[in-house]
Amino acid sequence: MATVFPPLPAVMVPVVGLDAVFPVRRIYCVGRNYAEHAKEMGGTGREAPFFFMKPADAIVVALPGHPALMPYPSLTNNLHHEIELVVAIGKGGKNIAASQAFEHIYGYAVGLDMTRRDLQNDMKKQSRPWCIGKGFDHSAPIGPITRAQDVRAIEHASISLQVNGQDRQRSNVSQLIWNIAETIEQLSTAWELQSGDLIYTGTPEGVGAVVAGDRLVGEISGLQSIDVTIN
Ligand code: MN
Repeated sequence: MATVFPPLPAVMVPVVGLDAVFPVRRIYCVGRNYAEHAKEMGGTGREAPFFFMKPADAIVVALPGHPALMPYPSLTNNLHHEIELVVAIGKGGKNIAASQAFEHIYGYAVGLDMTRRDLQNDMKKQSRPWCIGKGFDHSAPIGPITRAQDVRAIEHASISLQVNGQDRQRSNVSQLIWNIAETIEQLSTAWELQSGDLIYTGTPEGVGAVVAGDRLVGEISGLQSIDVTIN
């Protein structure tokens, strides 16, 4: 059957060391998954995990050493950075047990959950959806995916973000409240995961604003770094 207009191509993320790319289906995000960040956002640090989504085409592919450009978004005066470990799902499933979760992981990447914090806070106050604060265009920069078999000790990897060469966020994946396996277990009770899904697993403390011209470099040990300039 003909399409009434040309379908958009799938969103693709490069895979380290492979001449093939990872086609993105959905982007799931975990809220408040590091205790110190939960506290800075006004929580106790011990809530059950909760999830939100971004559209797949919010992806901005950012290669190390070649800053990707992220346009400063409309409607905000408080664009925040959130450095996050991204889990790439290779095999789908629902009600995945934590003990089986790693069988479903294709690989890992460094991501940024960029946030229009002022709009998110307005929506929170009004008990309205966060969509406008979280799911906007270009809100999901990501670096290349490293295959799980090539990553060691991801659960104890350091995670950091520098803005213009200055430390803003620095923690360790071991500080996740809900670890990688538990996150997949919980998420897959609510949605059936599929190949191509990405999970932004949450950000550590130190979130803050960036402005046009700022250069963000995010690192997770064992993965390729992410390099983004706001313009
Ligand atoms: Mn986040």
